Amino acid sequence: MQISRTLRRELIRAVSWVVLGALGGWAVGAIWAGIAVSLALRLLLHLRYLSGLRAWLDSPKQVVLPIVGGTWGEVFDGLLNLQKRNRKRKKKLAAILAEFQASTEALPDGAVVLGPNGEIVWFNAAAQALLGLRLPQDLGLRVANLVRAPAFTGYFARGDYSEDVEAPSALNPTITLAFRIIPYGNGQRLMIVRDISELKRMETARRDFVANASHELRTPLTVLRGYLDVMEAESRGEGPLQAWHMPLAEMRNQATRMESLIADMLKLARLESDVVHSRQDLLEVPRILGQVLEEAKAMSKGSHRFEADIQPDLRLFGRESELHSICGNLIGNAVQYTPAGGIIRVRWWGDDKGAHLSVADTGIGIAEKDIPRVTERFYRVDVGRSRASGGTGLGLSIVKHALEHHEGKLQVESELGVGSTFTCNFPLHRVSRGAARNEFRSHTH
Ligand code: ADP
Repeated sequence: MQISRTLRRELIRAVSWVVLGALGGWAVGAIWAGIAVSLALRLLLHLRYLSGLRAWLDSPKQVVLPIVGGTWGEVFDGLLNLQKRNRKRKKKLAAILAEFQASTEALPDGAVVLGPNGEIVWFNAAAQALLGLRLPQDLGLRVANLVRAPAFTGYFARGDYSEDVEAPSALNPTITLAFRIIPYGNGQRLMIVRDISELKRMETARRDFVANASHELRTPLTVLRGYLDVMEAESRGEGPLQAWHMPLAEMRNQATRMESLIADMLKLARLESDVVHSRQDLLEVPRILGQVLEEAKAMSKGSHRFEADIQPDLRLFGRESELHSICGNLIGNAVQYTPAGGIIRVRWWGDDKGAHLSVADTGIGIAEKDIPRVTERFYRVDVGRSRASGGTGLGLSIVKHALEHHEGKLQVESELGVGSTFTCNFPLHRVSRGAARNEFRSHTH
């Protein structure tokens, strides 16, 4: 519609020019010459507007479009409107960008935008303060060359950003930073850096407090326990303490429980403050399992059947005391939570994924909703039963932490009334099979 109307108007105008030219030519006796002159004039006018438009397109700020009527006027008006709209949109975008930059500048966390090759595209003031980035020198440089903490470079190269990584600040080693990378768009990444030193200090203070309190409680408890041992022994005979036999025996039991609680709390505090063991001893797991199984059989007093399937040449790089804790707690729990007559199966085997230790029982089992929580500190499905059996509620927390030190993962499968299977999965690079004793060392050196 629009085009045809414009075309019609243009045609009418062209015809009027031809008629005017013909009239002018007729007046001087040369109609065709008149038409030719009129058309040439019209063509010249078009060329002028066209070159004006061309010049305006080249530098719209300097050149002013002529104010004319007709179709050219409409074209010019349309273009000016478009330009005005674009300017408005640009201004709006600039305002949004400025607002975004102001808000990210105000963030207490460092924000760094990274390009597809890990080069720094943009960063805020907090990132300058936390990482010591300089503006504009560091723009375009690769972040892995600027943040050189091994924990960070490993995390950055791995490409699995599902969790944060912690690393000490290069500017001040007493400051701990947490890095998180969020991939977006076309190979771009946003890196968020937080100062978590205060959190770390609080965590250390809490750990130290538990460790110190447990340590301080140990001595008075040893004294109490000593007296209780003597008095309880006395009360068994016919002496003045005879009437106190039951309470004394109970007090002694409770003192023993407190002792194992304190021992487990200290163990857990020590495990928490330790890091992953990188180069350790090659452990004879079959021997450790043999020891633990003997202890468990003594505890069971013949009321359970034990089955063991242990690969004799399969060893693990780790720390003996911690592996002993893992085996002891899992097999001890199997004995405690399996009624007499039940079967306890211990397996230690290797495959192409690594080494695995599983402890399966035919005991009371754990309800599905409780399974994710059993490794929490002091979490017991049945508090009464756990206490009665001398459990501290810390055993599986200890297992979890000790496993983390060995880069292992705990897997729990269980069904109420049927039994439970606890499996520890250790990564391949911690495993040694027979003659392959030197393999791990050559990897880690
Ligand atoms: P506890 O000292 O109470 O045994 P743990 O941390 O070792 O503490 O275990 C936590 C809880 O998990 C236990 O109280 C128990 O309810 C449950 N649990 C652990 N092992 C087993 C098992 N083999 N069978 C059934 N329940 C278990």
